[in-house]
Amino acid sequence: MLEKIQHYLHEVESYKAQYPEETEQFRLKYMSRKGILAELFADFKNIPPEEKKATGALLNELKTKIQEKIDASKMAFESSLSSSSSSIDLTRPADHIEIGARHPLSIIRKQIISIFSRIGFTVAEDREIEDDWHNFTALNFPEEHPARDMQDTIFIEKNPDILLRTHTSPVQIRVMEKMQPPIRKIFPGRVFRNEAVSARAHCIFHQVEGLYVDKDVSFADMKQTLLYFAKEMFGEKTEIRLRPSYFPFTEPSGEMDVTCLICGGKGCNICKHSGWVEIMGCGMVDPNVLDNCNINSNIYTGFAFGMGIERIAMLRYQIRDIRLFFENDVRFLRQFKGAY
Ligand SMILES: [Zn+2]
Repeated sequence: MLEKIQHYLHEVESYKAQYPEETEQFRLKYMSRKGILAELFADFKNIPPEEKKATGALLNELKTKIQEKIDASKMAFESSLSSSSSSIDLTRPADHIEIGARHPLSIIRKQIISIFSRIGFTVAEDREIEDDWHNFTALNFPEEHPARDMQDTIFIEKNPDILLRTHTSPVQIRVMEKMQPPIRKIFPGRVFRNEAVSARAHCIFHQVEGLYVDKDVSFADMKQTLLYFAKEMFGEKTEIRLRPSYFPFTEPSGEMDVTCLICGGKGCNICKHSGWVEIMGCGMVDPNVLDNCNINSNIYTGFAFGMGIERIAMLRYQIRDIRLFFENDVRFLRQFKGAY
């Protein structure tokens, strides 16, 4: 009996599984109910009492060795599975990485900033929640001006009035309050109006305004600057025209039209057969506005302009509904892939 156990001890010690499945076969061979170990323990009952001590000790040693071998073998296969490079299929195609697109408003905003930065304008940005002074009063809006009405402006508080800015002009005021001319800045940003949402109008939209204040800044400087912008933005053949208009903060004030991008001035649906499309408001800064910001209007003059980024984007990309910009429909946004 002792020899038999010695034989199995030797067999167990020299055993090495080649595949994970062999470990289970090994376990079944020795540890199952009809396995070698069970057989040996059955024989153990029939041996003479004087042999029991030595045989029992050896039998227990065999049992421990078998269990150790099974545990070690299982562990070896588990760790080799997790670290083995053979389990990674290097020929499998990689997951597709979807490249997004810039939002059309970001594209146009970037282009406008780039065009003006080439002639020395730098960007200024500020808060979207404003007080009455910066949004209206400093900009020469009279007390009874309709823009102050609840129907046009989204108020957060009344007396004192705190509101969502209706244009980016308050940033012009904040810049002029802080610095003396020469000032040459553009003001991109989000603005808010209390308007019914439709294909043509939204309660949120984006503007880029511009301001140039220095000695001897004239209307001719403004006209040439805006012509430069129009040609850079819409193409070398673009022409501009200025029509008289009114804004509280500029005097004189104008609306600028450009030749229709679609028909080139011949007349089409987009330009309502006039050959021209309106793209911005502009004018010479009212001396009252300069004085409100402690800039001496006897020494300095300036011009200002403002345009809606949505309007430019709608013209440029022939988008007929302003709501598309805010709906985040990927079928719409995907179309701007590759546009810079
Ligand atoms: Zn046209």
